[in-house]
Amino acid sequence: MSPTPAWMNEELELLASSCRQFFLKECVPHYDRWEQQGCVDREIWQKAGTAGLLCASMPELYGGAGGNFAHEAVIAIEANRAGVSGLGIPLHNAIVAPYILNYGSEEQKRRWLPGMATSESIGAIAMSEPAAGSDLQGIRTTATRKGNGYVLNGQKTFITNGQLANLIIVVAKTDPALGAKGISLFVVETDALEGFRRGRNLDKIGLKANDTSELFFDHVEVPASSLLGTEEGQGFFMLMDQLPQERLLIALHAVGRIESALDVTIDYVKSRTAFGKPIMEFQNTQFELAECKTEATIGRVFVDHCIARHLDKALDTATASMAKYWMTDLQCRIIDRCLQLHGGYGYMNEYPIARMFRDARVERIYGGTNEIMKLLIARSL
Ligand SMILES: Cc1cc2nc3c(=O)[nH]c(=O)nc-3n(C[C@H](O)[C@H](O)[C@H](O)COP(=O)(O)OP(=O)(O)OC[C@H]3O[C@@H](n4cnc5c(N)ncnc54)[C@H](O)[C@@H]3O)c2cc1C
Repeated sequence: MSPTPAWMNEELELLASSCRQFFLKECVPHYDRWEQQGCVDREIWQKAGTAGLLCASMPELYGGAGGNFAHEAVIAIEANRAGVSGLGIPLHNAIVAPYILNYGSEEQKRRWLPGMATSESIGAIAMSEPAAGSDLQGIRTTATRKGNGYVLNGQKTFITNGQLANLIIVVAKTDPALGAKGISLFVVETDALEGFRRGRNLDKIGLKANDTSELFFDHVEVPASSLLGTEEGQGFFMLMDQLPQERLLIALHAVGRIESALDVTIDYVKSRTAFGKPIMEFQNTQFELAECKTEATIGRVFVDHCIARHLDKALDTATASMAKYWMTDLQCRIIDRCLQLHGGYGYMNEYPIARMFRDARVERIYGGTNEIMKLLIARSL
């Protein structure tokens, strides 16, 4: 697509190759069934753990593979290139686990990370609520001190991995009077947890192989050791600190999917004929694909730049927001143009471009909407 990025090396190339094999062999053959059941098989998480794809960037001391964000970038791009957009490994690896690594006590890291590396624990993060998405300070879930622990009450919605996850970071208010300073994060082990209930696996337009759920907390008692970090009131700052990585990760989904959309479309237009010749030979097809490829290359170079900066710990919020908003908008534009070049077949679910079209839309919404990204960029001006 574009020249090999400077952040890639031989080891990462090998990882990319084993990811491709894993996703093509272990996921693609089951993907239609996973979409129908609204969830991947629990077993695939185990296989991913055995293949070393879980917690790739966590230290070996905690059961991880000892890599860094570059390893997570490779996994996210390859999963999306292979069309495996509904397997929530990037969220588990590069969003949930880093909260524990970066803010957890030594005891918390040893308690939770090894299970995440083997798939014994599947991670999720529960920020959004029915009445609070973009405006996270408006959450209503509370965590009230009781004895040597806390009692959680509230409702979350749209939670990725929500049906399968059993280790959930819950954003809750420990002091509702304090605004952002009253927000804390709790790592909740949900197996056999009294008062915890999963709601519906939500019926979405796309990403149908991923379980996205409501979660209910009704007088759920958790030990004080569930509080992430050493003191209450740090949750909002932890979220703000981690969100650039989440946003970059979403831009990486877009990179993988754009490259995949172009691949399948170039194949299609070379084999489909109209008026006695392959539609690739029409100038409109060539110009459409030339423009898409140019923009995809520009996007890829920008994202590679962001990855390199992130690896140097120099990716700021505004730049990560640019990557998230621009790449996900670009993804929708390119996939729409690619679908058009498929004609009526592009509208048929059996063609990969149709699934890509459905899956792409949410990327402009979650991880902070693209409008919120523009607010963050504008604030830096
Ligand atoms: C498939 C899926 C998976 C998700 N996974 C997770 C997850 O794992 N964990 C989690 O916590 N959440 C998750 N979410 C929730 C997601 O992060 C929120 O949907 C998103 O942040 C938007 O919040 P909202 O839906 O409440 O929309 P709202 O905040 O109500 O926004 C509605 C519209 O108003 C606009 N808007 C809001 N505020 C402003 C403003 N200040 N200026 C300009 N425009 C504004 C928004 O951009 C949007 O267009 C997921 C959502 C989906 C659909």
